[in-house]
Amino acid sequence: MKRRVGGLETEFGLVCVRADGSRAMEPEAAARELFRPVVAMGRSSNVFLRNAARLYLDVGSHPEYATAECDDWWELVAQDRAGERIFADLAHQANERLAADGQDAQIHLLKNNVDSAGNAFGSHENYLVDRRGEFTRLPKYLLPFLVTRQIVTGAGGVVADEDGPRFVFSRRSDHMWEAVSSATTRTRPIINTRDEPHGDPTLYRRLHVIVGDSTMSEVSTHLRFATTDLVLRVIESGRALPELALRDDIATIRAVSRDSSGRQPIPLADGGTTNAVDVQQRWLDLAARFAEDEEHEVLETWQKAIDAVATGDRSWAASHLDWAIKERLFEQVRERRAVALDDPSIERLDLAYHDIDPGQSVFQTLQRRGLAPAELSEEHIASAREAAPRTTRAHLRGQVVAAAQEHGVDHVVDWTSFRLTRPGAMPVQVLDPFATSMPEVDALLEEIRSRGEDATPAPPA
Ligand code: ATP
Ligand code: MG
Ligand code: MG
Repeated sequence: MKRRVGGLETEFGLVCVRADGSRAMEPEAAARELFRPVVAMGRSSNVFLRNAARLYLDVGSHPEYATAECDDWWELVAQDRAGERIFADLAHQANERLAADGQDAQIHLLKNNVDSAGNAFGSHENYLVDRRGEFTRLPKYLLPFLVTRQIVTGAGGVVADEDGPRFVFSRRSDHMWEAVSSATTRTRPIINTRDEPHGDPTLYRRLHVIVGDSTMSEVSTHLRFATTDLVLRVIESGRALPELALRDDIATIRAVSRDSSGRQPIPLADGGTTNAVDVQQRWLDLAARFAEDEEHEVLETWQKAIDAVATGDRSWAASHLDWAIKERLFEQVRERRAVALDDPSIERLDLAYHDIDPGQSVFQTLQRRGLAPAELSEEHIASAREAAPRTTRAHLRGQVVAAAQEHGVDHVVDWTSFRLTRPGAMPVQVLDPFATSMPEVDALLEEIRSRGEDATPAPPA
């Protein structure tokens, strides 16, 4: 597939603490407080926004933002960042209400994957793939790439096991239990095969990759999608591919996470060994033959990331990739304070790195100091809050939601259908993820405008 639709779902960690750091509120209650304005406006804690994204509260009290469908990976990064800003504002408003109410309680939203109790939550990537042909072949080739991808796009962190505390590429690796499965929570697979295409089921599938870390760095998030897209294109080409199936995906994902050299031998299914750097390099070399001219920057960045591990020279990575930014940060703190890696101050720093509040976020402080990438302009992020991507179905959904909000017309939308809630209203189905104009949607917009004429406009989100 040359042009592909993708979307990113981010579950946020939620804590509500007093000034002394102790827990002020159960997460369930804090989530209710956070979603108060959302429920007031949409009468639900599961809504679609004007930028065509989905904002909702699932079981488990992890607020989630799922970006609209994008076919450009920088646009996807902008849409993801827009979600952070939207939730940061909701948290800010909730904290003002709590303060006005005289409560010693402050809500923090963390874009990370593991809470202090050791529970893991996700950052799910969605890729549109062809239903015909290659899907059954996909996992076999994709898994070695996904298992080793953490040396490029991992968020970094510390784990303490029998060998003591150590820096790892991805803490999430220890929370993966299966390679491929149709369940998301019980067994937590790398690839989830639940068949929900959000599109014409005769043509498409939606590949659901649930192994990724939530990434703060725009370079890391972009690489997750851009490299996986390229690898999918190589697999979809049907050409002969290197047989890199691993003997044990789950043992390997944990070992790779702990191997800062990227060179420890990894056992292959058919005997022999490889290593993480080698797997990434082989996919990069194959992808180079399929990349379009405008994708050369992706290949260069991917190469710099692999080289940072292969050579040990972190000079570029330490200000661009999440894991390397954190590695440097933790090292500095460790030296300055003469503490071990498992010192609580390092854990606190790790959490603060992922805090999305502009006043609390260590990541954003580093960005302001030029020590973390700020690839997207504030204008781009601000426009991604207001407007859906223009080149996918999201454009249609965004128009419907914006018009319905503006005219105060009750509506229900999801990924593939839009309808008004008046009795007898028929849903408009949009099964083509690439559709950007449809007469049925024009008619729906017309109806919204005419119905809205006598209604009072709803306040903007
Ligand atoms: P849940 O998370 O509730 O289990 P889900 O996996 O369907 O459900 P959503 O949170 O609703 O996920 O998010 C779906 C994601 O898939 C969004 O980011 C969206 O942009 C993306 N998406 C929608 N349609 C497609 C498609 N046809 N192909 C790939 N991605 C899609
Ligand atoms: Mg979801
Ligand atoms: Mg999902």
